[in-house]
Amino acid sequence: MLEIRNYINGVETGPGNGTWLDVINPALGEVYAKLPRSGEADIETAYKAAAAAFPTWSDTTLPERSRILSSIADMIEEQLIPLAEAESKDNGKPLSLALSVDIPRASANFRFFAHAITQFASEAHESVGTQTMNFTLRQPLGVVGCISPWNLPLYLFTWKIAPALAAGNTVVAKPSEVTPLTSYLLGKICTEAGLPKGVLNIVHGLGNEAGEAIVTHPQIKAISFTGGTKTGAHIARTAAPMFKKLSLELGGKNPNLIFADCDYQKMLATTVRSSFANQGQICLCGSRIFVQASVYEQFKKDFVQRVQQLVVGAPEASTTQVGAVVSEAHRDKIEAYIKLAQEEGGILLCGGNRVSVPDFEQGYYLEPTVIEVKDNQCRVNQEEIFGPVVTLMPFTDEADALEKANAVRYGLSATVWTQNIDTAMRLSKNLEAGVVWINTWLNRDLRTPFGGTKDSGVGREGGFEALRFFTEAKNVCIQYGNGKTP
Ligand code: NAD
Repeated sequence: MLEIRNYINGVETGPGNGTWLDVINPALGEVYAKLPRSGEADIETAYKAAAAAFPTWSDTTLPERSRILSSIADMIEEQLIPLAEAESKDNGKPLSLALSVDIPRASANFRFFAHAITQFASEAHESVGTQTMNFTLRQPLGVVGCISPWNLPLYLFTWKIAPALAAGNTVVAKPSEVTPLTSYLLGKICTEAGLPKGVLNIVHGLGNEAGEAIVTHPQIKAISFTGGTKTGAHIARTAAPMFKKLSLELGGKNPNLIFADCDYQKMLATTVRSSFANQGQICLCGSRIFVQASVYEQFKKDFVQRVQQLVVGAPEASTTQVGAVVSEAHRDKIEAYIKLAQEEGGILLCGGNRVSVPDFEQGYYLEPTVIEVKDNQCRVNQEEIFGPVVTLMPFTDEADALEKANAVRYGLSATVWTQNIDTAMRLSKNLEAGVVWINTWLNRDLRTPFGGTKDSGVGREGGFEALRFFTEAKNVCIQYGNGKTP
């Protein structure tokens, strides 16, 4: 059986305590690998390696850092197929999705930050008339912690690690224990690409053990976390009194607002994708669909018909559009919400059942599910399900759409479908979300700020925002000549 190992100080090692966890292939419902159940001692070893590597890495020239990060990007690209196969096996997602989205984006993350760091600059402020010059030094923080979830494993892991390393930090990182395989393979790539030992340390294990040890480590200066809102709140409570820098990318319950004047065919095709891509397990999926009353019945009919055509199947099959959800526990949670929706008076328009895929009968497959709800405040419309389940509700006008969209504790992203520029602009300003897409979805330019409002988190990733997070600004104030203090 495959033994996934920690990557500490450039060396693959097992857990210090000798205990291991099972890793399950969700398409088969079978254990296929062992994973270190690392603890505090492993995090301490990783921290020491990262601390020892920091002085040299933080003083490495930008072209050299950039060259190494670009080599990692190249190697991820060269290993597209094995990495995509690993991601699909670990997560249950269609291989086609891992080939077209997850792995290319992991490579793009390294390539983007390899370039961005060469363009990153700080400010100077001349205090005119006092012979005083200020400049801002942007210095790496030291050893930082990166913790990521299971839905887009290598994509989100590298989205944190690449800017942290580009900015000159050294890293202790923990991927999700549910999907550790591609981060394990990334360790091998980093060695081959010539990343000096100790610069990146990848430690596997449970959130409340290895993850907690990163968050509570007194010398780890910042935590970049992506995961659930409840975990994020716990991390904030723990890390804030230690005065750590925190970036928290948390859950979502994103509205998709469909106006009667939209480009209907484009909207329909994209809405099927924004509802069910990656089995609905993308924090940006539009899980609450609100449709203008005049086109509601038409949309309902067309949407349900399209959703029923989606092919649920084995991840590696080229015809598969919806793979397995990530785990048995997650499938049970999603099913509980489908049941709850009906108890709350929701009408099941399609889906709701398990799917038995030939030769993969023990895998965790669910039909894409559409539920019509009457009350925007019902739990299925308020709580994050994070699976192939969306709700439908009509709205009357723009004000009603806005009110319904914002009446939720989350504020990650929103999508608006309209040809009316006034509606689009007003909603862009008034929707409580970190990202607003107009007539598009999951359209990402890596220079743009990314993050949530309300219970979807604090802080921004992406572009220079990420480089600002991973650096400390220091004001240097120099007086020269006979200048006097103002
Ligand atoms: P999770 O919060 O259970 O786990 C995320 C990571 O945190 C894992 O690596 C886990 O081991 C670790 N962890 C758990 N408890 C911890 C603790 N006490 N201390 C330190 N680390 C701990 O989330 P998940 O189930 O893996 O992921 C799904 C969630 O992630 C969903 O809510 C989804 O919306 C969210 N998500 C958000 C974004 C975003 O960008 N906002 C992106 C993807 C996923």
